[in-house]
Amino acid sequence: MVSSHRCSFCGTEIPPGTGMMYVKNDGTILWFCSSKCRKYMLIQRKDAKRLKWTEAYSRVR
Ligand SMILES: [Zn+2]
Repeated sequence: MVSSHRCSFCGTEIPPGTGMMYVKNDGTILWFCSSKCRKYMLIQRKDAKRLKWTEAYSRVR
């Protein structure tokens, strides 16, 4: 059975077979549900807790 992952940025559950995996130089594996999340995390370095559409945001409320 293939386990699902959660988006490393917004926290959304990613169904098996979808999403994007990214391996950092230190070996840490990140998963992204969309190219939008990948861009925010790796290029713009946004804080997910400040973006209303992420699950990380709703968790701090
Ligand atoms: Zn995401």
